[in-house]
Amino acid sequence: MQKIVFTAHCILNTASKVVLYNQEEIDAEEALRKKFMRQVIDHEIQVIQLPCPEFTLYGAKRWGHVSDQFDNVFFRNHCRKILTPVLDQLKEYLANGRRFEILGFVGVDGSPSCGVDYTCRADWYGSFDCRTDLQETLRECRLERGPGVFMSVLKDMLKEEGLENEIVITSLFAPEPDKCLNLVK
Ligand code: SF4
Repeated sequence: MQKIVFTAHCILNTASKVVLYNQEEIDAEEALRKKFMRQVIDHEIQVIQLPCPEFTLYGAKRWGHVSDQFDNVFFRNHCRKILTPVLDQLKEYLANGRRFEILGFVGVDGSPSCGVDYTCRADWYGSFDCRTDLQETLRECRLERGPGVFMSVLKDMLKEEGLENEIVITSLFAPEPDKCLNLVK
């Protein structure tokens, strides 16, 4: 029986991530990511990499965003479009359950897109150039309970397929860093 885990894109490819954020956070995430990947390899778990919804819409030069900015019909439609072939793969592996065991999906807590239990939120909009309150606006960003937009669409799609109780969705990173390691034991 082969075990399969679906992971957020940047767990395998950090080049997709927004750059220039807090170095301490980057180092902590990198350490946990490596721990997770080592465990995956040691246990011979197969990995299916989800597409990165932000890179495939905004590319490598995007700013960091909050989930309120992505929570609109256009971004949701984009997520649905890139998740459709992923759901097809999932269904095919599930249909061959004697050969494959689906361990679940792993997102990235804190992300506006791939957060599972936590996402970053703020009332951000508009241009930077005439702002007199930039620091104050940036400080408004907070970690809140709830999924990012990509994971929210994934949950909707699993529900539409009647799979919402069958498939585990967990995540790496802040503020509960070790919770997904049990998935790949
Ligand atoms: S959108 Fe998701 S996959 Fe892309 S960089 Fe952010 S957390 Fe990683």
